[in-house]
Amino acid sequence: RAKASGRNGWQFFDSSMARQVEHRMDLETGLRHAIEGGEFQLFYQPQRSLADGRIVGAEALVRWDRPGRGMVPTQEFINVAEESGFIVALGNWVLRAACCQAADWGRTGLPLRIAVNVSVVQLRQADFVDQVRSALVLSGLPPHRLELEITEGAFVADTLDAIGKLHLIKTMGVELAVDDFGTGYSSLSYLKQLPVDRLKVDQSFVRDLPRNAGDRAIVRAILAMAANLNLQVIAEGVESEEQLEFLRAEGCHEIQGFVVSPPLSAASFAERFLAIDHV
Ligand code: C2E
Ligand code: MG
Ligand code: MG
Ligand code: MG
Repeated sequence: RAKASGRNGWQFFDSSMARQVEHRMDLETGLRHAIEGGEFQLFYQPQRSLADGRIVGAEALVRWDRPGRGMVPTQEFINVAEESGFIVALGNWVLRAACCQAADWGRTGLPLRIAVNVSVVQLRQADFVDQVRSALVLSGLPPHRLELEITEGAFVADTLDAIGKLHLIKTMGVELAVDDFGTGYSSLSYLKQLPVDRLKVDQSFVRDLPRNAGDRAIVRAILAMAANLNLQVIAEGVESEEQLEFLRAEGCHEIQGFVVSPPLSAASFAERFLAIDHV
């Protein structure tokens, strides 16, 4: 295709590809010292129960404020970190920082569940289970207050290895959520082999609720299946009251999204959601 566009097409293709490679290498270089440089921060997005309106959990989302450059979009540097293997170090940092924050909030009277995203690259590490255990020990967080979010992609490759590790982690009391549920091209059979507690309905199915008939059907089907498998369901990317009302009426357990709050710094999160229970 590039060839058909002729000599100039090739040149354009080359220089845009070169720019992309350069950008990628620049991010990779920048990442290398970003942990020691203290350039990462966790933001927290509340998860609300639709049964009683209470904030029951928070998802930790990493942010990178690059000195002199500003915020780097999370998905962008996560992708680079996964390709370079840096995600292992970053993921362990996230795990510890999130557990420490949740343990801290627990000590001040709010025992929230903390959800941490785990990359399939982390899951592949031989010492992954040990890393989870040491984050719990170091922070003093009770295991049942930690939830690991894993995408379906983890169950396509290395299935047996991943299943074994997740069973070990479950034995420790840690909870397990399937992130971006419904988008992963994987079969559903892993749901009966894995100790999953919660499905996170991907925001692409929530965006056009309640008017899109296809999305209504998909969300209802997920809720029905989850009820039969005894799984909890949380919808992500909930932005409007209409979406919230549809999900409540259909029996969805929890929601996360801008309608409740965007992800917040730890200080803002505490100010907004933890103080309420003390007054
Ligand atoms: P995710 O785990 O599916 O996280 C949800 C994303 O949706 C977050 O983007 C969040 O800020 C955004 N979001 C929340 N509410 C709404 C809403 O109402 N509407 C819309 N349109 N978006 C909403 P974010 O923070 O940019 O993270 C993007 C992705 O990067 C995450 O998707 C996750 O896959 C990955 N990620 C973030 N932090 C980590 C981490 O610590 N480790 C790993 N491995 N991946 C991470
Ligand atoms: Mg997530
Ligand atoms: Mg998600
Ligand atoms: Mg995602």
